[in-house]
Amino acid sequence: MSPRPPRLPIRELAAAAAAYQTAAVIPHCAQCLKPCCKLESLVLELNWKQTRTLWRIEEARPAFDKRLAAGAGPEEIRAGNGLYYIHGKACPAYDQTLGSCRIYGQSIKPAGCSDFPVYEDGGDIVADLRCEAVDLKALTAEIARAAGREFRIIETADAEFPFIVSLSLKRQTGQRGPA
Ligand code: SF4
Ligand code: SF4
Repeated sequence: MSPRPPRLPIRELAAAAAAYQTAAVIPHCAQCLKPCCKLESLVLELNWKQTRTLWRIEEARPAFDKRLAAGAGPEEIRAGNGLYYIHGKACPAYDQTLGSCRIYGQSIKPAGCSDFPVYEDGGDIVADLRCEAVDLKALTAEIARAAGREFRIIETADAEFPFIVSLSLKRQTGQRGPA
């Protein structure tokens, strides 16, 4: 029977990504020169409940959609695929004085915000270099440590959006897993 290859340490990778956010990214947010929450280069994706809550919309969704379609809605919101895309104006939950999110830790906070700028996706670590706090070299070292010596890290930039970088794990040749 041939030895099993080492398993992909997905849980460890996700924990390493979260730890990197906590240690290296979040402490920098208050002094960030290009805060992502201003939505100047990023697009925020929201469902109806999040949109209604953040913009304090009182009308029913069909009426709001009609207003948006007529060009009379908040100009930073575009509707599509049953969702709402926000760009070009700071998120209403962003506290510009403190440089922080007013809904941090609340269920209404979009999952995409928690994932930005570093997250685990199917065994890869994805890093968005539009965040000035991301140090790719340091992140790669953290991920290599979490992955263990059986793996090496391959870095790939997205062809269309080169600021999105994936760190993939490749098994080291000659390494054997537990039998
Ligand atoms: S871009 Fe990065 S450092 Fe700046 S506010 Fe966003 S997460 Fe924080
Ligand atoms: S919900 Fe919070 S983290 Fe997300 S864009 Fe708005 S202020 Fe930033």
